[in-house]
Amino acid sequence: MTHNYDWLNTESTALEHVGLRRHLRTVMSAPTGTVNLDGRDVVLLGSNNYLGLSTHPKVIDAAIAATQTFGTGASGSRLISGNSELYTTLEVNLAKTKDTEAALVFSSGYAANTSVIPVLADEGDLILSDALNHASIIDGCRLSRATKKVYRHCDVEHLKTLLSESTAFRRRLIVTDGVFSMDGDVAPLPDIYEVAKHYEAMLLVDDAHGFGVLGKDGSGTVAHFGLEGTDIIRMGTLSKAVGALGGYIAGSHALIQLLINKARSFIFTTGLPPATLAAANAALDVIRSSPELRQRLFSHARHLKMALIDLGYTLLPSETQILPVVLGSPQRATSVADALLAEGVFAPAIRPPAVPPDTSRLRLTVMATHTEAEIQQAIAGFAAVLPESR
Ligand SMILES: *Cc1c(COP(=O)(O)O)cnc(C)c1O
Repeated sequence: MTHNYDWLNTESTALEHVGLRRHLRTVMSAPTGTVNLDGRDVVLLGSNNYLGLSTHPKVIDAAIAATQTFGTGASGSRLISGNSELYTTLEVNLAKTKDTEAALVFSSGYAANTSVIPVLADEGDLILSDALNHASIIDGCRLSRATKKVYRHCDVEHLKTLLSESTAFRRRLIVTDGVFSMDGDVAPLPDIYEVAKHYEAMLLVDDAHGFGVLGKDGSGTVAHFGLEGTDIIRMGTLSKAVGALGGYIAGSHALIQLLINKARSFIFTTGLPPATLAAANAALDVIRSSPELRQRLFSHARHLKMALIDLGYTLLPSETQILPVVLGSPQRATSVADALLAEGVFAPAIRPPAVPPDTSRLRLTVMATHTEAEIQQAIAGFAAVLPESR
């Protein structure tokens, strides 16, 4: 009996002591307004299925039809034999939605960020990254051999200062979330774009949470600000409002060509399943033709936000469907989440490293497909646990 692996338990116990140990919960139904969690029905306030498209009949039909025609797996990487025509259809649809020359689909948003950033910035280049950018951006920066500098969250003056101090670099890349994943605020893209133009820097916007939700026809944060015609590189995911799986980059033909040749997470992995590609493609059409889903989403977000503020909860000033209730320590966030669950409300606690220290929170998200009754039930749950949250 060796002890080579004893450190595994030691490390998990250490996480437990600081309130940062994670446990998996089992969801036994589709991610709709009410889910069956470990055998019990609870209102779900923690899903990124913002428009409910993962269970939309047209989307499910498309996934079934694609499986019947193409089978269950891609059976190869896209550069070898896995590039089915479903990819072409989806990428044409994405480029049209994002108003760019071309688009390229990756296996996930995580995979897209971790290889797009190293392709755009290498040794001798500089990356400027918002302090609250998503972990996949941080990992993309780590994989790049470029120099990295972090600017204060949404602080365009700080970004300007860093750019003006760094003229010796060959190329410069600014990268930001469009809608910040844990805060729900929106990056000041018009100002960031102005600065990028002035300093001749590239700009990459990760629109994981804006796509399907903000802008004309739900096409995202760039469109929300009327910046469609620009050379901003748009990254996003098909796993949130689109309800499927996959990441994408939308931009120029030149960019997409280089990514096909150099993006390692594109080259060295198997293509997505046919069902996933067809579902995403059908979901894009539903998004374009269903403004009422976005209206319902925002009406639910406003309703829940106002009710929680009236009850005395502190929310970050989010403008979107993401409503962060900041509670401080990880222990406090988990105990409030547990109390809410006992009241039938599933609002997962988010702790470091997903958020900065001392800002552990409940990250509430609403869905267009929540009923009024479910939102009401959630509010009643928050009213019941209020004393514990103080
Ligand atoms: C979820 C998320 C990703 C990763 O997307 P996946 O498709 O889930 O891998 C990237 N960026 C942001 C801002 C996200 O919220």
